[in-house]
Amino acid sequence: MPWTKFYDVHSEGFPKEKWEECYIEACGKEAISIFYARYGHSPLRVSCTCCGPDYIIYEVEMEDVPCPDESHRVIFEREILPKERKARVPKQGYVWVD
Ligand SMILES: [Zn+2]
Repeated sequence: MPWTKFYDVHSEGFPKEKWEECYIEACGKEAISIFYARYGHSPLRVSCTCCGPDYIIYEVEMEDVPCPDESHRVIFEREILPKERKARVPKQGYVWVD
């Protein structure tokens, strides 16, 4: 199973959750849905246009996943609900129009 890492860029100068990094045992699009289902905001949200999206999102290997602690959330596949995988993620924050 791939892991997806969400790294809080401190958009607008502060973290969006109590933790700094979240690791979800799912790939790309599903991991974004699971993130939204758990935390109620899109990780793709742009809170500040100079900072870009609230999170940097990328795939990592199992060995890169740290032990869970105050600043690292780790969500394992076994604890993910089927409906969380299918959550529809709304567009939030600034949306660019060309
Ligand atoms: Zn900014």
